[in-house]
Amino acid sequence: MEKSKVLIIGGTGYLGKRLVKASLALGHETYVLHRPEIGVDIEKVQMLLSFKEQGAKLVSGSFNDYQSLVNAVKLVDVVICAISGVHIRSHQILLQLKLVDAIKEAGNVKRFLPSEFGTDPAKMANAMEPGRVTFDDKMVVRKAIEDAGIPFTYVSANCFAGYFLGGLCQPGSILPSKDSVVLLGDGNPKAIYVDEDDIAMYTMKAINDPRTLNRTMYLRPPKNILSQREVVETWEKLIGKTLQKSSISKEEFLASMKGTRDPY
Ligand code: NDP
Repeated sequence: MEKSKVLIIGGTGYLGKRLVKASLALGHETYVLHRPEIGVDIEKVQMLLSFKEQGAKLVSGSFNDYQSLVNAVKLVDVVICAISGVHIRSHQILLQLKLVDAIKEAGNVKRFLPSEFGTDPAKMANAMEPGRVTFDDKMVVRKAIEDAGIPFTYVSANCFAGYFLGGLCQPGSILPSKDSVVLLGDGNPKAIYVDEDDIAMYTMKAINDPRTLNRTMYLRPPKNILSQREVVETWEKLIGKTLQKSSISKEEFLASMKGTRDPY
């Protein structure tokens, strides 16, 4: 496989650290942006040092220092950004507009993979608040990339398994109960769940693949397409127990979202 020089931005994040691991495993020359704002966050510092021990190169740079972004981008062929973008946590998707400018100015990048890794935002025009900001902002970044003529790949990873499977597909829950579960409606609509380490590996395998150039790559492993009932059945088999089931209607679910906090 062709080896590249890869810069990972957001490498200390939930997905980012897996991208660093996959990049190193595939033998790419891996650069990880280290931002001074990290301050005394000792766990992040130690994570960065562990990347270095595994062969990554740390590059100092900040979204508050445009030239540092240009300098970092000039070191590599491929830029992957995994900056935060979850409305219930931290949401920084639009910061990438500065990165797009830096990539355009540097002029050497053969492929940019922006922070996407979710449901294809191009198909989410009807998404609801408060979560839709993620899709709207990702579309703004896409337009900037395409207007700048930067070669790209968008990775649509559907649902992160950790967030969605851990809590048996119940929003706001990431641990499975051994007693009960609330089904969304009848629990039969299917969704696609992808393990985060797999997302990272598929992403790294796409960076030099001509089939993914200027396209969206959809991760849809057939065995990972499951209804909530199927997820619950799998858990029930694992624990050898049947859960008590109730259900929440669409109307009740939407009412429960009222007043949920806005992204920050
Ligand atoms: P995280 O919340 O774990 O954050 C990722 C990175 O963002 C961190 O490394 C952090 O750096 C960096 N960051 C935050 N603020 C700044 C800033 N001001 N300047 C520079 N870097 C900053 O992100 P996730 O891994 O949860 O999300 C990555 C992508 O995956 C997003 O696009 C998100 O929408 C998507 N996603 C998809 C999901 C799905 O189910 N499909 C679920 C969750 C996320 P530092 O460590 O230095 O603070």
